[in-house]
Amino acid sequence: MKKYLLSPGPTPVPEECLAKMAEPIIHHRTPAYVEMNKLAMEKMKKVFYTDGDVLIFVSSGTGAMEGAVVNTIDKNDKAIVVRSGKFGERWGELVETYGGVPLYIDLEWGKKLEPKLIADLLDKNPDTKAVFTTLTETSTGIVYPIKEIGEIVSGTDALLIVDAISGLGGQEFYMDDWKVDITVSGSQKGLMLPPGQAYAAVNEKAWKIIKQKSRACYYFNWAKYLKGQVGAGKDPFTGAVSHTKALLKALEIIEKDTMESRFQRYKVLAKACRAAVNAIGLELFAEVPCDVVTAVKVPEGIDGKLLVKKLRDEYGVTIAGGQAHVAGKIFRIAHMGYIERFDIIIIISALEMVLAELGYEFRMGNGVAAAQKILAEEYI
Ligand SMILES: *Cc1c(COP(=O)(O)O)cnc(C)c1O
Repeated sequence: MKKYLLSPGPTPVPEECLAKMAEPIIHHRTPAYVEMNKLAMEKMKKVFYTDGDVLIFVSSGTGAMEGAVVNTIDKNDKAIVVRSGKFGERWGELVETYGGVPLYIDLEWGKKLEPKLIADLLDKNPDTKAVFTTLTETSTGIVYPIKEIGEIVSGTDALLIVDAISGLGGQEFYMDDWKVDITVSGSQKGLMLPPGQAYAAVNEKAWKIIKQKSRACYYFNWAKYLKGQVGAGKDPFTGAVSHTKALLKALEIIEKDTMESRFQRYKVLAKACRAAVNAIGLELFAEVPCDVVTAVKVPEGIDGKLLVKKLRDEYGVTIAGGQAHVAGKIFRIAHMGYIERFDIIIIISALEMVLAELGYEFRMGNGVAAAQKILAEEYI
């Protein structure tokens, strides 16, 4: 059976990048690798839209999240954490792990964030060291107003630290213009690579703070990366040489395509996906749906877990179910990374077949037609 991967990470990898992963291994202390590494860091700046420094780690995205916390938060430091999904919760768990004091903004999952909540909390707690939030909260499919949050936080001493692990490369995001101080990401989502590499973009305001911190850690001590990796291309530890080769290929693809046309394309893919599920009679989960993943409420009387399982095992299409308390209640279709118009047609078509099989009443083909119409008119 042919397999289709439309999960919000890992995502499919273009053949050119897979071919790079299969090349012979080179040593990470050779000039060839150092040059590649420098080039990758330089080109990644364009993806983050920053003049700051880009660090590259051997880990999944969470390693960069952990680094962002341990390098900026000491024991008893206050940090505002937007907690309204699995990954916002992760920021909170990390802050707690390192003895920081999280000030939580708890929202119901999928509900929109009023930036004023952050402004009010910062007013009441002027000693806050950082605000941790997420560009696209993958567990709920929402996009947060990072630009507005940046306006608020940049007027204070606190750092704005954004998890763009699923959003980077697909959801519009301009790190410097939006006054974000640290952005973290990972390889296996919008960047079209296998899991295993993580990235952080760090600006001057953040480096000033990082240099004052005690950093109770070894591997993710960012000062080590600043010294060897940034500028000089020398990883403090063994770099993921195959990933870096594939990353350069992915960056070449992105560069040719352009970031702006990619932003536009994912908007259309998301719109087609939303139109399709609406035409099937289903509802979206997020109040402000993002462009890289669509979260959909499982209709009354349908077993959401069985739906996702059948799609995977009987139709070969992998999407994601819901996490934590929304397990079985939502499903998530990703359109990030190496996903194009006909991938949307495949998942919508398969979804319709499984829903029909499970006894859901609707007119088969309505979803596909709705997606097709938008893709025919607006796809770039
Ligand atoms: C996938 C994801 C993570 C976790 O990344 P790992 O690579 O699994 O460590 C964190 N935040 C968001 C928003 C994600 O989508």
